[in-house]
Amino acid sequence: MKFDVVVVGAGHAGCEAAHASARSGLHTALVVPTAGAVARMSCNPAIGGLAKGHLVREIDALGGLMGRVTDEAGIQFRLLNRSRGPAVQAPRAQTDKAEYHEVMLRLLRATPGLEIVEGMADALRFSSGGQGRISGLSLSDGRVLEAQAVVITTGTFLRGRIHIGRESFPAGRLGEAPSVDLALSLEGLGFEMGRLKTGTPPRLRRDTIDFSRFELQEGDSDPVPFSFSTTEIKTTQVPCHIAYTNENTHAIIRERLHESPMFSGRISSVGPRYCPSVEDKVVRFADRLRHQIFIEPEGRTTDEIYLNGLSTSLSRESQRLMIDSIDGLAGACILRPGYAIEYDFVQPTELRPTLESWRVDGLFLAGQIDGTTGYEEAGALGIVAGINAALKVKRAPGFVLGRHEAYIGVLVDDLVSRGTREPYRMFTSRAEYRLMLGIESADERLTPHARSLGLVDDQTWERFRRKQDRVGRYMSWLGSAEKGGALLTRLARPGESTDSIELAAHAAPPVRLSVGERGLIEGKVKYRGYIEQQLGEIQRVARDGARKIPPGFDYGRVPGLSTEIVEKLGRLRPATLGEAARVSGVTPAALALIRVYAQRPVNAHSGVQIPAGS
Ligand code: FAD
Repeated sequence: MKFDVVVVGAGHAGCEAAHASARSGLHTALVVPTAGAVARMSCNPAIGGLAKGHLVREIDALGGLMGRVTDEAGIQFRLLNRSRGPAVQAPRAQTDKAEYHEVMLRLLRATPGLEIVEGMADALRFSSGGQGRISGLSLSDGRVLEAQAVVITTGTFLRGRIHIGRESFPAGRLGEAPSVDLALSLEGLGFEMGRLKTGTPPRLRRDTIDFSRFELQEGDSDPVPFSFSTTEIKTTQVPCHIAYTNENTHAIIRERLHESPMFSGRISSVGPRYCPSVEDKVVRFADRLRHQIFIEPEGRTTDEIYLNGLSTSLSRESQRLMIDSIDGLAGACILRPGYAIEYDFVQPTELRPTLESWRVDGLFLAGQIDGTTGYEEAGALGIVAGINAALKVKRAPGFVLGRHEAYIGVLVDDLVSRGTREPYRMFTSRAEYRLMLGIESADERLTPHARSLGLVDDQTWERFRRKQDRVGRYMSWLGSAEKGGALLTRLARPGESTDSIELAAHAAPPVRLSVGERGLIEGKVKYRGYIEQQLGEIQRVARDGARKIPPGFDYGRVPGLSTEIVEKLGRLRPATLGEAARVSGVTPAALALIRVYAQRPVNAHSGVQIPAGS
């Protein structure tokens, strides 16, 4: 079977990658063991949250699917940080897991040029003459898929191993086979790989829980959508509940810590620091008398209830005791036990900023395989890899977002330049230019890129342009000379909003803004001083990063560079100082030396780079 691009895995990274590649006009295969596994939510039934909600908005602005699917499959929407500045507000939604899968599958099936191939990818295939250039892959049933670019998005499946107390068995997720041959294939290519772990809580049966014992948590009365193309969330919202562990629960956990694979030393891989297991919480915060548990339905009609905050790898018997100790949960039927899973990942420093591997031309890696955790991080990496795989096939320059342009730019840059030793999760604090990266400006920042890449249809583009026009007219009104810019100055003050300004103006503005557009304008005006300052800094960094390094530059002649950097840069051959800066291990001091030596003319006789002053 012949394709332009093959994407392995249809989780959150794979769906975005395959969709972006197909939308770019390329014949794309999405390989998944069964179509029923498309966009399965391995863990919590929720999308978004701080920084993660920002990522989803950006995926949407680039023409991706996650936001649209969440808006359709969401059952409870909340805008977080409502009382704080617009830059740090972010949407979060509980979703119906089954519906999330169905909506995603429907949208993928409706994407021209995208074919879902059911099968298990086994081994990569290479063009004749070595392993330097990908030519496709083979499936476990012997079928061969030819392609010029391959994107691997296998999540937690590479040599996955589940732990439930002392029980331990190979699996990609509970009830699904791991991917062993593909892991061996990657290892055989010399990729630097590591092992990480994550965990999930037990699922309970709804009608065996006493909800009257819990605090109620309602959704927003004016739900904010994820996608710029959703005008309104019309579905009825479902409440969640909050329960608490107690001293008895903690005593049960402490008594049984020896069962836990981490505490007994049976596994040593690192888990997500910000999503700890309940065992971790009880040990690390020993003085806390209780921990919160969010009781979240996995869907509108399903019986399954997710216990957010009670991730565990204790034995089934201990999980039973734990559940029985919690008010409202005692005696509830456990449908599936919690578990921990260990899996292989590829150190992301193996990747270029396009997410193509440095080692194999045409091979891209995205999602949890890159060392991240979370659906949103996976989706963001997926869309970047899908776009770039398509550009690779078209022999066009790669698509790389700057740290000032998007959280996606921060995510990719952090991973490929620094690598990771623990599951990487996005936070707003990771973005030094976060005041410029609010959720309402994601389309302004990214949709023009998406349009030029062919990812955005005419209707979406037209809607975006109309919005930009409205915002532009409103900004001119705020700053108009006849009011001496007074409205603009007033809006910049703390406590003022577009609503209060309109009241004070005693005149109607030229356009009626939506809630999102109000947020966008308030962000622009209130942060104007900081943003101008940051833009100056960004321009300086960009000028420096754009400086070319001559193609045959001899790093060995630069005094003071470590042998490791000389070897690495000699092999990777970055084209600019910016690219060199992103190679792991390249320090600012090394970069300063390269800047000096790479800018000097070459002595025609010796071929030696002549440094300044010699
Ligand atoms: P996945 O969503 O895992 O998708 C991988 C896809 O690859 C699947 O479709 C699979 O069928 C397919 N596949 C695998 N091997 C092959 C092959 N050889 N051939 C064809 N297809 C293949 N995230 C959090 O943010 N917080 C948490 O608390 C959290 N807990 C988790 C607990 C568990 C038990 C698990 C499994 C995951 C958890 N996650 C958590 C992580 C979250 O589920 C992932 O980050 C996210 O799903 C990663 O998306 P992905 O697309 O990279 O991989």
